Amino acid sequence: MDERKDVLSWDEYFMGLAHLSALRSKDPNTQVGAAIVDENHRVVSVGYNGMPKGCDDKVFPWAREGKLLDTKYAFVVHAELNAILNSKWPVAGCTLYVSLFPCNECAKAIIQSGIRRIVYESDKYADSETTRASKQMLKAAGVELKQLDTKIILSVTKEPNPEYNEKKA
Ligand SMILES: [Zn+2]
Repeated sequence: MDERKDVLSWDEYFMGLAHLSALRSKDPNTQVGAAIVDENHRVVSVGYNGMPKGCDDKVFPWAREGKLLDTKYAFVVHAELNAILNSKWPVAGCTLYVSLFPCNECAKAIIQSGIRRIVYESDKYADSETTRASKQMLKAAGVELKQLDTKIILSVTKEPNPEYNEKKA
C-alpha cells in the first residue's frame, strides 16, 4: 500500500488544533487560536481570543475603532495569554502554536512563562510596531521562532445528527 502523502506533521497537527480553538472566538473580525504542547507532543493547554471571565461578550465591545473604552483593545484577552493562563500544568520548555504571530504583550507573557519555541502561521502585522517589539524581545530571550510553510485549512461544519434520539423518560 502507498504511504499517505497528505499525513499531517506534528507542527501541522497542532496548528490545526490552534485553528480549531479559534472557532470558539466570539470576535466578529479576528479569530486567533493557540495550543501549548510539551516536548513529548502532549497537549498542555489551548486558548482563543475572548473577553475575561465574568465580562459578558455580548456587553463588552468588539469594535476596532473609536475611543479606547469603546473598542475591544481595552478588554480582550489574546489566545496566547489565555492558553498560558488556562494551563493546569507548567508551560516552561513547551512549544506554543498560534495562528497569528504574537503581539508584544503576549510576547512578555510567553517569555516569562518559559515557553521556548513558537510555531506561527500568519505574520500579517509584521510591519507594525507591536510586532517589531515582540520580535525584538523574543529574539533577545532566545525563543525559537518558526513560521509554518503550510497553511492549515480546517473544514468544520455542523448539522443535525440523524442518529440522535431525544429519550423521553
Ligand atoms: Zn497578544
